[in-house]
Amino acid sequence: MRWAMSAVESCRIGVVGSGLGGFRVAADLRRLGHTGPLVVFGAETHPPYDRPPLSKQILLGDWTVDEARLADDAELEALSLDLRPGAVVRAVTPGRVHLASGSTEDFDVVVVATGAEARMPDFVPDHPLIHRLRTLDDAMRLRSALPAAESLVVVGGGFIGGEVAAAARVLGVDVTIVEAMPTLFHRALGAEAGEYCSELHRRHGVRVLSGSPVRGLSGADGGVTVTLEDGTHVTADLALVGLGASLNTGVLDGLGLDVVGGVLCDGSGAVEGLDGVYALGDVARWRDELTGLPTRREHWSTAGDQAAIVAHTILGLPVPDYLRQAPYFWSDQHGIKIQVIGRTEMARTGGWLEQDADSGSAVYGYHDGESLVAVATFGSPRLIGKYRPLVAEGMLSARSSAVS
Ligand SMILES: Cc1cc2nc3c(=O)[nH]c(=O)nc-3n(C[C@H](O)[C@H](O)[C@H](O)COP(=O)(O)OP(=O)(O)OC[C@H]3O[C@@H](n4cnc5c(N)ncnc54)[C@H](O)[C@@H]3O)c2cc1C
Repeated sequence: MRWAMSAVESCRIGVVGSGLGGFRVAADLRRLGHTGPLVVFGAETHPPYDRPPLSKQILLGDWTVDEARLADDAELEALSLDLRPGAVVRAVTPGRVHLASGSTEDFDVVVVATGAEARMPDFVPDHPLIHRLRTLDDAMRLRSALPAAESLVVVGGGFIGGEVAAAARVLGVDVTIVEAMPTLFHRALGAEAGEYCSELHRRHGVRVLSGSPVRGLSGADGGVTVTLEDGTHVTADLALVGLGASLNTGVLDGLGLDVVGGVLCDGSGAVEGLDGVYALGDVARWRDELTGLPTRREHWSTAGDQAAIVAHTILGLPVPDYLRQAPYFWSDQHGIKIQVIGRTEMARTGGWLEQDADSGSAVYGYHDGESLVAVATFGSPRLIGKYRPLVAEGMLSARSSAVS
């Protein structure tokens, strides 16, 4: 559904989720001229905050909670949003939001930005020494537990697990990471760059047990025990489970929509099969404008770019090209900034493009034939600018050769 600018003031918009995507779409709508009612429902009771600092500055105690906010009180007031902290939405149907409290509210347009939760498989018991990290409350619990711990076992060698491991080392905690795949970050970076990251962690004193699927996890008074498939036990004072995300698609259940692996949307965020409803951020699977494939990315910049695209689309404004730039994410571990730009999923081969033994910085390239479709840079933040246009060009030429 597209609204002419003349109808903007009377257009009533409901946003479900007050995380990065939900907050940013509301702020962008205001910035682009929407002056009508704009309600943001958020299950959490905190004002909108950013998640990347949770596993970095907040965990280390370098930032206060307020520093992670997406907007201070004055900025929120200037946006004139009807922000509803603690308002859990049960369901969204065309033009209507159904709250868990039993009430309903009607809107011209609804945006679903419900994100995800930490995935906790059945073998993970509910125990105070077994932590997860998705919300500010999770981060504060882990932050208060870490200083008293001598050891931590991280179950799952993904980016959140890697960042928590790095923060725990700074706090002097003994850390073991157990990971089923052959290296850390294997799915995101592949074997070679993943092994580089495993080595980075080992150099900083982390015990990396890769190729080690977990069979079970238990907690007792004095600590936790992780049991590996081969029968080995890893014990520690605390555990952090970093086994990916479980998507909050439940508000769209029962409508016959394709929500497995993310709410299926067109290339501008309109939910396919549901008029007047958009979805964005971690919960959404947009048709990738380059590959045409429904693709979901749990990246900070994706949620922000998609929020801006949805705001432009709702208001009938042309979407600026820069909002459809190559996918990008970063991670900070052991003082090294890891940055990835492009579509690693398009790659068939990979190899090191640059390695500087003195500084330890490196760049890994992902290729489809001759085309450079993604790069990962390690400890060289400025190089991402050099590779951004090369990757943009490489992705286009890879797509052209796939089409021809
Ligand atoms: C610890 C951590 C560190 C990260 N670090 C990085 C990083 O370094 N680099 C990077 O690129 N990305 C990082 N990310 C990913 C990035 O933060 C996410 O991609 C981004 O937050 C997604 O925003 P979102 O709005 O889609 O979802 P979320 O931020 O999850 O927000 C969704 C909100 O919706 C609310 N909600 C859910 N269901 C309902 C409901 N039924 N009713 C009302 N409200 C509801 C939730 O409570 C939540 O507040 C990190 C994520 C985490 C968790």
